[in-house]
Amino acid sequence: MLPRFWRKIKYRYNLIGTKCENCGRTFYPPRNLCPECRRKSSIVEVELGDTGVVLSYSVVHDAPESMKLERPYIVGLIRLDSGVVVTSQIVCDPEDVRIGMRVRAAFRRYGEDGEDGIIYYGTKFVPVEE
Ligand SMILES: [Zn+2]
Repeated sequence: MLPRFWRKIKYRYNLIGTKCENCGRTFYPPRNLCPECRRKSSIVEVELGDTGVVLSYSVVHDAPESMKLERPYIVGLIRLDSGVVVTSQIVCDPEDVRIGMRVRAAFRRYGEDGEDGIIYYGTKFVPVEE
């Protein structure tokens, strides 16, 4: 279940996470509850920016058919310039990916729900041309 605000157009080019104001932890993907503070959670949305650097990655050759992913694909750990570390797919040639590579968020359409017409977007990262 995607948080409802992922569907809003205005957020498409800036990653939105949530921050617990009680303990200061930042979450991405967004959470409605801080696992540390639980009922004392004070959750606000925060912009995380859309650029970062690859900390590590792995090339995945075997994807479930249901994911409709091109194979092989790359999953990486990305440290955003805001300091938050996220896990995401990196869209580039597996031979070109490297640790320390600059990347930026790109939003790709994952699929469309036939019932209510909701289009789901997910974040992927692409190399930044330097
Ligand atoms: Zn907290």
